[in-house]
Amino acid sequence: MEKLAQTKDFCPNRACPDYGKLQSDQALPNLKRISKTKRGVQRYQCKTCGKTFTETTGTIFYRKHAQANEILEVLAMLAEGNRISAITRIKGIKEDTILRWLREAAHHWEELEEVLLKDFHVKRAQIDGLWSFVQNKGEKKLSRDR
Ligand SMILES: [Zn+2]
Repeated sequence: MEKLAQTKDFCPNRACPDYGKLQSDQALPNLKRISKTKRGVQRYQCKTCGKTFTETTGTIFYRKHAQANEILEVLAMLAEGNRISAITRIKGIKEDTILRWLREAAHHWEELEEVLLKDFHVKRAQIDGLWSFVQNKGEKKLSRDR
């Protein structure tokens, strides 16, 4: 499976012609480092569209690089109708962890949906089912936590 890219590997602006194009594949990289934020996070600017962003901009993937595939696998399993308890047993991931991922997934749904459809071959109808599941589980649990 392909490694998921980090934010700084490509322009995160969906409207940009260079959106999703890895810097390593470009003859002339379109991202350049600019000043850091107050907290010392590196900022980048895309020379193609002019947008600026930080290396922490973006999705669950970017922040949890190592875990990204596992999260996606779990989401794909849920989409295919597996119960959380089954996934806990099969993958050895705690239920709390899965619920936490679902909460995060709810905030990054667009990106996740795209990858699940494209790379995990989850069907559109399954994605829609998963989304209501994510909203339910994620949000219910979230309000209970607080
Ligand atoms: Zn751009």
